[in-house]
Amino acid sequence: MAVPKKKVSPSRRGMRRSHEALVGQAHLECSNCGELKRPHHICPSCGHYDGREVVAAEKLTKAVVRV
Ligand SMILES: [Zn+2]
Repeated sequence: MAVPKKKVSPSRRGMRRSHEALVGQAHLECSNCGELKRPHHICPSCGHYDGREVVAAEKLTKAVVRV
């Protein structure tokens, strides 16, 4: 089994973890109803995408945007 030659210093460990921060999920206002939705996704409250209704709004109760 491959074994690390030396213990990783706190500085090196911090440098590695500097890229591990979580970023918040992107969201913007729906152009039809103004509700927050994820970009490039159908609006969960009104079912619109790109200015037209693509899914009936009643079917979208499970698709909830987490903000
Ligand atoms: Zn909408």
